[in-house]
Amino acid sequence: MKGKVVIVGAGPGDPELITVKGLKALRSADVVVYDRLAPRGLIAEVKEGCELIYAGKEPGRAELSQDEINRILAAKALEGKLVVRLKGGDPYVFGRGEEECEYVMSAGVPCEVVPGIPSFIGASAYAGIPLAGRGFSSAFSVVTGQVADRSMQEAHLDRIERLAAASDMLVILMGVRELSRILRSVARVKEPKEPAAAVMWATTPQQRVVAGALEDLIAQVEAGNIQNPAVIYVGRGVTWRGRLWRADAL
Ligand code: SAH
Repeated sequence: MKGKVVIVGAGPGDPELITVKGLKALRSADVVVYDRLAPRGLIAEVKEGCELIYAGKEPGRAELSQDEINRILAAKALEGKLVVRLKGGDPYVFGRGEEECEYVMSAGVPCEVVPGIPSFIGASAYAGIPLAGRGFSSAFSVVTGQVADRSMQEAHLDRIERLAAASDMLVILMGVRELSRILRSVARVKEPKEPAAAVMWATTPQQRVVAGALEDLIAQVEAGNIQNPAVIYVGRGVTWRGRLWRADAL
């Protein structure tokens, strides 16, 4: 029997937000390698005897290094197993799915990728913050708050500022550590009253939203009230919240 790796985007947190295709793969897996932000409720879906491997990935540390993860995926599949690599959100949105797929395929192992709902899409619906629509937002940008090469961080912050100026909605992932600096530079090109929000643990029962004017969000960040994981939104779409369905009001 020939093994295979299926890299599955598990969605943003609510276990029911995985795709049908992703769930089918998960239920037939012999081995599941999962991250910190992959919805825990999905682990109950694996079949009896399935081997579970936790890869960690807290900000700034990891239970397994990326090299170790790559090697485990390929090695288990070469034993003839169906290996599911379960990731939070979508594998190709700051998810290193591309690095894993490339490694596995270069080892001669078949690999498939199942997309998932990214955190910023899930958080948008569950917090009532539309990203784009007529009259209020014709362009949105999605950025990471920090780049892998620390020496490029200053240049990256400049680019976020330019993107903020050019976008009706700016979305920031992995931003908590640098958030105060990022939002202060965004405030240079937006109004201090620009609507802004942080959505923490989006689509999970712990979802928490801090929303207000950009200047108020900056104050909240500096008071330590925004914790990881969070998606940050800056733009008029945030003002729809009061009139739309949102999970954090339940
Ligand atoms: N592949 C993922 C992103 C991985 S990077 C995706 O498609 O969403 C990790 C970042 O995603 C976190 O720092 C945070 O900004 C965001 N994130 C992931 N899950 C989240 C959640 N449930 N709530 C809020 N932010 C989340």
